[in-house]
Amino acid sequence: MARIGFIGLGNMGGPMATNLVKAGHDVQVFDLSEDALKRLQAAGAQVATSAADAVKNVDVVVSMLPADKHVKSLYLGDSGIAATIAKGTLIIDSSTISAEMARELAAALTAQGLRFIDAPVSGGVGGAKAGTLTFICGGDAADIEEARPILDDMGKNVFRAGEHGAGQVAKICNNMLLAVLMAGTSEALALGRAQGLDPAVLSNIMLQSSGRNWTLEVYNPCPGVMEGVPSSNNYDGGFLVDLMIKDLGLAQSTAANTQSATPMGNLATELFRQHSEHGHGAKDFSSIFKLFEQKGN
Ligand code: NAD
Repeated sequence: MARIGFIGLGNMGGPMATNLVKAGHDVQVFDLSEDALKRLQAAGAQVATSAADAVKNVDVVVSMLPADKHVKSLYLGDSGIAATIAKGTLIIDSSTISAEMARELAAALTAQGLRFIDAPVSGGVGGAKAGTLTFICGGDAADIEEARPILDDMGKNVFRAGEHGAGQVAKICNNMLLAVLMAGTSEALALGRAQGLDPAVLSNIMLQSSGRNWTLEVYNPCPGVMEGVPSSNNYDGGFLVDLMIKDLGLAQSTAANTQSATPMGNLATELFRQHSEHGHGAKDFSSIFKLFEQKGN
């Protein structure tokens, strides 16, 4: 069992750290939120008084923070913790951040004698709680293999996409495709429904035909077609529209770096932004279905 310092105990990090405790690791945690710390203390983690305190005497550091600026200031800022982490320690950052930031961190931390992998996740809050996340990693193969047993205690799949930053690139490619698939599936279902078709019947036809995709298989966006998904729960729970917009923004800026054409990603970004501006930012991303229904009315 490892000694792990875990920073960032929000919707994702909280259950991930809890699963590490359950697996028998010695977990020292820190978050800016007192409530988050209390939850982890109740789960059996040791609460630290600062991020620097949480990473003392550990084998591995895991961070799960909102965005680039939080991760950069945690490790490299004026009061950054990099200097306090023992040389040779493996740092696993599971936040979804830009690939550029992941590479910058890798370079800076490696220069200080530390080891770093980017390991963003797919699977959402449900996957974090159930311990079924997919980790999409970038970094040295040996470091990812060393991280694997710890990642296995929080998830069910660990992939190496390539060198530092590649995990973040693979993650945003996947989420850009997911946004396009969800918008396209919603558009088709709304069209069929406007033409008088039963969306359950249409979904079944497309599932057995060439339009088949993940959203039809397990995450149908039309209310009433599938049980146990956000569309049948007023679009509550799941993956928030505003988090999808964040990931689409990362995809757009990454594409700009290589002047890659992403017209489908651009359009999906625009559609999800419009939807958020209509007040749906805190709903599940499958609620984009409502945008197409409104457009048809
Ligand atoms: P969250 O806002 O619920 O949690 C972030 C936590 O970080 C908060 O508890 C906050 O207090 C803490 N924090 C911020 N700055 C800190 C600092 N300097 N020191 C210590 N703690 C600090 O966010 P989340 O939903 O857990 O998402 C975390 C990351 O995972 C994001 O990058 C997000 O894009 C990604 N992600 C989220 C989901 C999802 O469904 N929520 C799915 C996949 C990936």
